[in-house]
Amino acid sequence: MTERLYWEEPNSTEFTAVVTRVGPVPDLDRQGVQEGGVALGVVLDRTLFYPEGGGQPADTGVLQLEGEDALYRVKGVQEKDGAIVHLVELPARQEAGRKVPLGPGARVRGRIDWERRFDHMQQHSGQHILSQAFLQTLGAHTTGFHLGADYASIDLDVADLSPEQVERVERLANEVVFQDLLVTAREYLPCELPEGVRRRLPKVAPKIRVVHIGEFDACACGGTHVTSTGRIGLIKINEITRAHGGTRVIFRCGWRALRDYQNKEGTLLAASRALKRPPAEVVSGVEALKAQAEKSEKETERLRRALLDFEARVLVQEEAGEVLVKALPGKSVEELRYLARAAAVVRDKPVVLFVREPRFTAVIARGAAQDFDACAVAARLAAALGVRGGGSPEMAQIGGREALPGDDATLTAEIRRLVADL
Ligand SMILES: [Zn+2]
Repeated sequence: MTERLYWEEPNSTEFTAVVTRVGPVPDLDRQGVQEGGVALGVVLDRTLFYPEGGGQPADTGVLQLEGEDALYRVKGVQEKDGAIVHLVELPARQEAGRKVPLGPGARVRGRIDWERRFDHMQQHSGQHILSQAFLQTLGAHTTGFHLGADYASIDLDVADLSPEQVERVERLANEVVFQDLLVTAREYLPCELPEGVRRRLPKVAPKIRVVHIGEFDACACGGTHVTSTGRIGLIKINEITRAHGGTRVIFRCGWRALRDYQNKEGTLLAASRALKRPPAEVVSGVEALKAQAEKSEKETERLRRALLDFEARVLVQEEAGEVLVKALPGKSVEELRYLARAAAVVRDKPVVLFVREPRFTAVIARGAAQDFDACAVAARLAAALGVRGGGSPEMAQIGGREALPGDDATLTAEIRRLVADL
């Protein structure tokens, strides 16, 4: 069993210890281990390094052999059968197969990455307070806890939360912070566990460690916590989503809450500058822009159709024969369809409009010519030109994945001939 200094000295960053065991790490769970060449699993007689567990990620840091300069980076920490295994990366100069001096009996000095650990303590302690605040305010129980790199979250056994409920919980949680209550931990035998202790399903353990936040909360937990609630700083709920039939509450505490505030304020001020309106008017400014854009879109569409109708009339004047066949380079499929339909209505006779490249597409419209079957013409053209398509007797479309070879004039003549032969 490793002595857990992180419980006794939650504010310490450095410690000394003796190596009790060193081994390879392939059998260990690589999940949660930071990227890098982890080469050794090191067990010490005592440690400040928190092993991942209970929703809290592992500490990182360094180990240093007494009397040596080289640093062994600790990339992850895991608990295996009561022993805490430090997943250690060898210093660069020792990777060439030299015997590692970090063996049993060696004395080491360890230092944890305090910024990372303090952040975890802020989020984790904030989680205890939020869970109790949700319980007291709404009778909502916490069913899960996750501490990620960007935000932390708890899952609750309630279907939904109103903004007003969230505000009440947030207010209570921050009152507990401002009261600066002492956070203490005590171990109990299962039979002497005080009433009202929040805990998950009981594990078989000789003793249960309970974390007390003044008289406000008591929770069975093996994680690391701040020593008084004032050190958590602001507790801010950021987002409510649905998860597993319940509700997920995304929140940030302390430094994370401040960074998040800075980022969001930066975004708001940038939007305010872009809109040339004060921050309080950003939403109304965006709504006004959206309304204006919708109006412009409608007007553009109206003008586009007016232009296409005009183009259709011009097209009709170019062909006196039975079927109008015309290449319209650069037109979209939608424009071809609109123009073919409009031109066929104006001239009362069939129309074939096409683009040869970048992808051959032709649209055939019947107009009022009852003896003309657009679908049959499409089938004939498709077979002759090696493309596919179909439609109805009134309107059909054919096309291929590539351009057709040659030029527009030759292809126009070819289509004219094929249609006339029908
Ligand atoms: Zn905890």
